[in-house]
Amino acid sequence: MTARIDPLPARTEDGVILLVSLHDLTSAKRAEQMRADFVANASHELRTPLSTLVGFIETLQGPAADDEEARVKFLAIMQQQASRMARLVEDLLSLSRIEMNEHQPPTTPIEVVTVLRHVAQTLELKAAARGMTIDFDVADERVRAVGDADELAQLFQNLIDNAIKYARPNTPITLGVGPSRRVKEGVAIKVRDRGEGIPRNHLPRLTERFYRVDTARSREMGGTGLGLAIVKHIINRHRGQLEIDSEIGEGTTFTVHLRSSIPGPATAPGSKADD
Ligand code: ADP
Repeated sequence: MTARIDPLPARTEDGVILLVSLHDLTSAKRAEQMRADFVANASHELRTPLSTLVGFIETLQGPAADDEEARVKFLAIMQQQASRMARLVEDLLSLSRIEMNEHQPPTTPIEVVTVLRHVAQTLELKAAARGMTIDFDVADERVRAVGDADELAQLFQNLIDNAIKYARPNTPITLGVGPSRRVKEGVAIKVRDRGEGIPRNHLPRLTERFYRVDTARSREMGGTGLGLAIVKHIINRHRGQLEIDSEIGEGTTFTVHLRSSIPGPATAPGSKADD
C-alpha cells in the first residue's frame, strides 16, 4: 500500500528540506500503517482461540452439561486454546520488551556455546519425541560473543524449536559455531535442519510478524507466528546479522552473526589498544 502524501506548505524554496520532509512523512505513514496492521493481526490471533473457548464454555453450560465424554474432550481443547493464547501474549510481551531496549546494545562478551548447549538440553526431549537428535559442530567451546545471555537463549530456543517443528521427523539438527564471514572477527552460530526447505519467494518475509509459510501447519505445531520476528529484533539489538539459506528437499540453515567485541574509539598510530 502506498501512503498518500499531503501537500506541504509550498512556501519554502529549499528543495532539499522539502524532499527530507516528504521522506519523513512517507516513513511515518508507513510506520503508522505497520502498527495498525500489527494491532489488527494480534487482535485476530487472540480472538480466534477466545471465540473457541467461549463456544465450548456455552456448550458445556447448555447442551453438553450432562455429557461426561464431551466434557473431557472439550476441556482438553479448551486447555489447548488457552495455552495458545498464553504463548501469544508471552511472545507479544517479549517482542515489545526487546524493541524497547533496541537502542541499547549489550556490551559484555559471553560464552555462546554454553548458552547454546543449555538451550539444546531443554529441547532434547521434544526433539527425541520426533525421532530427532541435536548434534554439535563446535571448534572452540570458549568462543565469546558480545551478548545478553537471556536474549540469546531465547533466540537459539526459537530457531531450534522451529527446526524441531518443521523439519522431517527422524532427521538430525546440527548446531555449528565458528568464525563469521560477515561480521569482522565475529562469531557465526548455525542452526541447520534436514527438512523440506522453504520456497525462495517466502524467505524475504519470513521474519515479519505473523508471517507463516503454512498457517495450518504452524498452528498445528503450536506456533504463534512471532518466533522469527523476535529473533530478528534480538539480532538487531545485538547489531548482528541473520542469514537464511534453504534448499527445497535438502533443509534450512539459519546463521546468526554476532560481534565478538565492541568497536572501540580509533587509536592513534603507534599506540596499543587495551585487550
Ligand atoms: P511460527 O510460530 O509459525 O513457527 P516463526 O516466526 O517462528 O513462526 O516462523 C515463521 C514461519 O517460517 C513458520 O510458520 C514456518 O512456516 C517457517 N519456518 C521457520 N523455521 C523453519 C524451518 N526450520 N523450516 C521450515 N520452515 C520454517
